[in-house]
Amino acid sequence: MSSKPLLVLGTANRKKGLELAKLLSPVWLNLRMLADFPDAKSVVERGESFAANAALKAVGHARHLGHWVLAEDSGLVVDALDGAPGVLSARYSGTQATDESNNRLLLEQLGDTPAERRTARFVCHITVSDQSGAIRAESEASCRGRILFELKGTHGFGYDPLFEIVEYHRSFGQLGPLVKSALSHRAKAACRIVPQLVELVESGELGD
Ligand code: IMP
Repeated sequence: MSSKPLLVLGTANRKKGLELAKLLSPVWLNLRMLADFPDAKSVVERGESFAANAALKAVGHARHLGHWVLAEDSGLVVDALDGAPGVLSARYSGTQATDESNNRLLLEQLGDTPAERRTARFVCHITVSDQSGAIRAESEASCRGRILFELKGTHGFGYDPLFEIVEYHRSFGQLGPLVKSALSHRAKAACRIVPQLVELVESGELGD
């Protein structure tokens, strides 16, 4: 039997990479992380949309490494903040931003905005590039929720402790990985990319 085709997950965010790896595990692929490639370079996310940034990362890493790459760009879109932090979610509180400083700034910006106006959504755009830099598959999905008044729970990363799934009265930080892997923006986008990856593997295209 031939070996599994190699697909690099083009993210330096370890927790995001682990979520993606789990979601893509049904596909017959040898998934590797960027961290496995010491000569990987960072890609500047200068795009104005999640799609543009996912493409920059997928194509940039694929051309540099000479492998197929799956990259995603994701973030939080808060209605009362005119869509902020959006594509700047990772760097919301500056170039030295941490999850803690981003969450603090988000709470400050929302102030005492009432619960019914704290609606938000997470968005995830996934792009797959072949080793030449041609985009071969894409998907996008979102997940609706509401920003809490304080951090709740310790699971996940980023804004998870502030993002409440209204139907569950719990944040992603409280709900944990099993529920997040069914409901999240990343889970839904992965569900849509899996059949496309299966087709690319079965046709032999992903594997060259
Ligand atoms: P990027 O896609 O690497 O530019 O960064 C996405 C940023 O959006 C992360 O650093 C988080 O701040 C936020 N984010 C994206 N997905 C999630 C998630 O599943 N939970 C919490 N925060 C997220």
